[in-house]
Amino acid sequence: MAYSRVGVVTGANKGIGLAIVRQLALQYPKSPLNNGPFLIYLTARDKSRGEAALKDLHEDSQLKQAKALKADGGLSEITYHQLDITDRKSVDTFAEHLKQAHGDGIDFVINNAGIAMNGFDSNVVRTTLGCNYYSTLAACHTFLPLIKPHGRLVNLASIAGSLSKYSDEIRNRFLSSQTEADVTSIMKDFASAVEAGKEKEAGFPSAGYAVSKAGLIGATRALAIAEKEKGSTVLINSCCPGYVKTDMTKGGGIKTPDQGATTPVMLAIHDIQGQTGVYW
Ligand code: NDP
Repeated sequence: MAYSRVGVVTGANKGIGLAIVRQLALQYPKSPLNNGPFLIYLTARDKSRGEAALKDLHEDSQLKQAKALKADGGLSEITYHQLDITDRKSVDTFAEHLKQAHGDGIDFVINNAGIAMNGFDSNVVRTTLGCNYYSTLAACHTFLPLIKPHGRLVNLASIAGSLSKYSDEIRNRFLSSQTEADVTSIMKDFASAVEAGKEKEAGFPSAGYAVSKAGLIGATRALAIAEKEKGSTVLINSCCPGYVKTDMTKGGGIKTPDQGATTPVMLAIHDIQGQTGVYW
């Protein structure tokens, strides 16, 4: 089967990730701009949750009505693959699968997987930075070489990552960061300050999730700069989906997951005028 685009969505068994997969499947044959069906990898860390999500999509009335999912060929296909972004072996196994199955490369990766833990202590901060910052960036580095020229890499950050609650010094460090190493050194200083119980004195908010997303915004920009300097044409951007009703927001949120999926889907497949390194 010739697919017009092959893409990956991480953490796609529920919430915004699942809605992103659904929106992607609805793109063809709806839009004449998409000149063929998509193959979308719905990835999840837990096999049963991933497969249950895939089954639900096959029962989805809007997808059925739009005849957007593969019935007997010609339409978009969604396939499940296991992927825990915090598990190196899982990431490498999936990357190897992509290499074998798509020798000419894939078109986009949407790094949606993320966590927001209750409480604030050094364990919470270590785990949160581990998933939302370090593992997301490691996934970027693993998948980037597999993305075709002019492909896309999209990282789900958050408005919680805005820089309003930092000292001037830390804010300036974020804003002047040119490399991923610059941003990582801020993440390390934050983790050490939390360990010492002195994050406020060090100029940080007492909020692991917010700092992890501030880091992701800065590191995505730095990665885009570095890739462009190497001559890569892949467009690398981060975004906030808005305040969305999902398990993460525990009944809060003002947008539906479908509305939250709009910006990441746009950044993955629509014309964004060549913009890269931008937080949307
Ligand atoms: P949910 O908690 O509903 O979903 C998070 C998804 O990420 C789940 O599928 C979860 O899997 C998965 N996940 C968590 N850890 C890993 C991991 N190690 N490897 C692979 N998958 C993992 O959150 P949302 O849908 O609300 O959020 C999606 C993204 O959007 C996140 O990055 C979040 O930070 C961001 N965001 C959300 C906002 C909102 O208002 N909802 C606002 C701003 C940003 P499992 O089911 O197995 O736990």
